[in-house]
Order: sequence, then structure tokens, then C-alpha cells
Amino acid sequence: VFQLSVPLNFLGSVYRELRQSLLDMETLFNLQKVSLTVKDKPDAKPLHLTAGELKFENVTFGYHPDRPILKNLNLTIPAGKKVAIVGPSGCGKSTILRLLFRFYDVQEGRILIDGQDIRDVTVESVRKAIGVVPQDTPLFNNTIKHNIQYGNMEASSERVIEAAKRAHIHETINQFPDGYETMVGERGMMISGGEKQRLAVSRLILKDPPLLFFDEATSALDTHTEQALLSHINSILKEKKRTSVFVAHRLRTIYDSDLIIVLKAGSVAESGTHEKLVDRAGLYSELWSAQETLFVSDEEQTKVEEEA
Ligand code: ATP
Repeated sequence: VFQLSVPLNFLGSVYRELRQSLLDMETLFNLQKVSLTVKDKPDAKPLHLTAGELKFENVTFGYHPDRPILKNLNLTIPAGKKVAIVGPSGCGKSTILRLLFRFYDVQEGRILIDGQDIRDVTVESVRKAIGVVPQDTPLFNNTIKHNIQYGNMEASSERVIEAAKRAHIHETINQFPDGYETMVGERGMMISGGEKQRLAVSRLILKDPPLLFFDEATSALDTHTEQALLSHINSILKEKKRTSVFVAHRLRTIYDSDLIIVLKAGSVAESGTHEKLVDRAGLYSELWSAQETLFVSDEEQTKVEEEA
């Protein structure tokens, strides 16, 4: 349970989602000005981001200190690389992202961004450097355009449309009753989970942050749309040499990562490229074999749907 200094019932449904997944927290905090237990040190300076390397050194963390989730965790997410964190449910994948976002502070060890302990720099500067695409993005009760533009309020309409095109949502938006001016959110039109995820990606494209986190970000999309969107995200990441971290269950969405970190019970079980991990015949290779069968039947399913 999050330790917030104000009652949370006013956040309504957003709070319920917050408990489940890593939300677009900047959005939430900027909107509601919720203060957290994590506070800046009096002499905290803004993060000085250079290459974008992320590092966990001997990190131990638990939501309840007597029940550690991450145990003496050591890992490096190299600058400019696409890194995936995989592993069994509950092993602490999303917790890693929450700690990087400095939603909580570690109990032992330290987390470094470009060599700076994130407790020594301002929370605001850390969050500004990070863009998150969560599984479930809260929408503002506003237009589609505003919801994308939130990534960068100064962006022109042309850039909003460009971002929507890159996130494969432009055509869909054009079919909405008022196009980009369509109202969404609790009092507007309901949009699907997959559409929300693509809106979140377009918001991220517009924000263009140096560090990008994807937490099950494409899980609501059908195989075809997911593959198209992922290949687009990949080309953006490559072109801009951004550091990106993907938390994923479905390994086929991340097998092409520069580095795959396999977590088990809060520690790194193994890490390497897909080829290396499959050869190693460990946990990853086990998960991969189990999912490959699912992948094939999924592909067949898509084919059947397309032929129908
Ligand atoms: P999944 O793949 O199922 O999403 P995960 O590997 O991302 O899981 P985390 O969300 O990091 O796992 O959670 C790790 C553990 O911490 C789980 O046992 C979870 O129940 C617990 N946990 C997560 N958030 C909290 C919280 N706010 N308070 C207490 N325990 C929590």
C-alpha cells in the first residue's frame, strides 16, 4: 500500500489501477500534487544525465522491510540499449521500475543513474528523464489530442498527428466521431485497452524522454498490431539510441533485446541475449519452450482470423 500523505479516495478508479500496475505516475502526481514519502535531500541537485546507464548495486528492497522482494540485486542496464526484464510472476520485475522511478527508496544498496545515486538528486529531475508506458494508462477527461499532447504541451497539432501515426493510432482516431477533438476519459467516449496503450505510446513519442520504460505495454493488443507497434518502437529506440527497459511476460515481444535479465525470487538468475540464454538451457530456455507452443497457436489463430 502506498504511503501517501493525503487520502486517496479522491483519485477514485485511478487509485485502484495504481495498486495494480506502474501507472503514468508523473501524470498522476502533476495532476493531483500528491506528495510522497520519498523526499529530496536539502542539497539535492538535478540529475545530470549523460549516456543513460542504470545500475542496481546490492539492492535489497521490500514493501514491508521484513519481507524483501529484491534480494541483494546487482544489475546493469547499459546506456542506449534495449533491455528486457523477465521472470515468473511476482519475482519483482515491476518493482525494479518503481524503484527507478523513485516511488520508494531501497533498504540496502543503491541505484545509480549515470553514476549518481538517485537519492542524491531531485525526484523531479529523475522522473522528468523517464517516460513510462504502463499496462493501463489513465486518461484525462479531455480530448484525444490533449491526451497525446500531455507528453509535450508545446507540441503543434502536426507533431501530435505525427506521433499518433508512429504509434499506429492515427487511422483509428480519424474514425472517432470528432477525430482528435473526441472527448475521452470517464465522461467521454470509452476506448479500448489497446487504443489506450497506443495513445500512451504516442504520448511517449511526443515527450521523447532519454529513458523509456515499458511495463507490459502492449499486452492488450492483438498479435498483428503488437508486432507492428513493437517494430516501430524498436526503430525509434535504435535511431535515437535510447536506454529502454521492457518488463514482459510474453517473451516473443522482447527476444530481440540487446540484453535479457531473468529474475527469480528477487535476484538475477541469468542474463544474456536470447541465443545465449536458449543455449544455456536454464530458466529462460524453459520459459521460451513453454511459450513457443503458445506462440505458434496464436499465429495460427491470427491466420484463421485473417482468412475468415
Ligand atoms: P507480475 O509479473 O505478476 O506483474 P512482477 O514480477 O512484476 O509480477 P512485482 O509487481 O514487482 O512483481 O511484485 C513483487 C512482489 O511484491 C509481489 O509479491 C507483490 O505481491 C508484492 N507487491 C507489489 N506491490 C506491492 C505493494 N504496493 N505493497 C506490498 N506488496 C507489493
